[in-house]
Amino acid sequence: MRSLTFVGPGKLRFDEVDAPTIVDPTDALVRPLAATTCDLDHHVIADKTSFSPAAPFALGHECVGTVVEVGPGCTSITVGDVVGVAWHIACGTCAQCLKGHPARCLRHGDAQYGLPVNGVWGGTFSELIRVPFADYNLALLPTGVDPVHLASIGDNLGLGWETVVPIVSQISDPQVAVFGGTGSIGLYCVDAAVHCAGARTVYYDDDPVRMAVAEKLGAEVADIDGKREKDFDLAVDASCDPEKLKKALLSVVPEGYVNSVGIYFQDVAVPMLQLYLRGVNFHNGKGHARASMTPTLDAVAAGVLHPELVTSGIYEWDEIPDVLTSERPGHKPIFVLDA
Ligand SMILES: [Zn+2]
Ligand SMILES: [Zn+2]
Repeated sequence: MRSLTFVGPGKLRFDEVDAPTIVDPTDALVRPLAATTCDLDHHVIADKTSFSPAAPFALGHECVGTVVEVGPGCTSITVGDVVGVAWHIACGTCAQCLKGHPARCLRHGDAQYGLPVNGVWGGTFSELIRVPFADYNLALLPTGVDPVHLASIGDNLGLGWETVVPIVSQISDPQVAVFGGTGSIGLYCVDAAVHCAGARTVYYDDDPVRMAVAEKLGAEVADIDGKREKDFDLAVDASCDPEKLKKALLSVVPEGYVNSVGIYFQDVAVPMLQLYLRGVNFHNGKGHARASMTPTLDAVAAGVLHPELVTSGIYEWDEIPDVLTSERPGHKPIFVLDA
């Protein structure tokens, strides 16, 4: 089968590799219908992460697909199901998974698709994917929704819901700030804040394309380098920029919440005294995709969330290397694999 390989900074190619097979009884094999980039992938390709020395490796960890084979131990997933695939490889039954923390699975640790972390599990820009613990790691898509715009459900799209809704749903008349920059995650956060949480939402960025999407999603938009408000209940840092992280940290009400979903590969200075004086609840960590996939899918099926507004372009599978190494790949390009 063909599998997209990250060869090195700015270099992608399709390689012919052995197709995966069922190894354990709880495995399933999934053929992608559509796959997309996590915001992190753009940084990997641009050599802004620490992954380049590990190249070559299969890239991609966001897709929806069709189940084409299941092991004898699968009880809920069956052949023909159209599913979202979680980015992580998690068992679903250890103490961390049961707490809703599959990204901290005690059996599989940091294992995931599309990055060389704790084993090799292939990438979602491949024609076939092996999914361990398939009953847990796959989420059935609701009927009546377009699977293509849900390609991100197993990571960035679910992360938008996870970053905002559990915190903001406990606050009356919530106000949310989203500091964008990484691509899609900030926009999915805006969608969840406006439409799931009913929050007044301000989106800060300096990219006119993303700002236009945020406005369409119902946010007020403002220049990230301009004047900003400082009394938000929740500020989301989706910037990957230390200066913007600092602005997010200092934009919330006393005892407010800051959730950082950008990834910093270098140490960052944090204004600890100002955080102490203000009282800030700061969270920084991987998203726990599986726990948020089902409520996110329910919100899409109910017409509450609008992931289609975040999609920046829909392309054919063969175009993946060219689009992703082009000067403007877009903040959420989705690639469709024909049957
Ligand atoms: Zn990701
Ligand atoms: Zn586990």
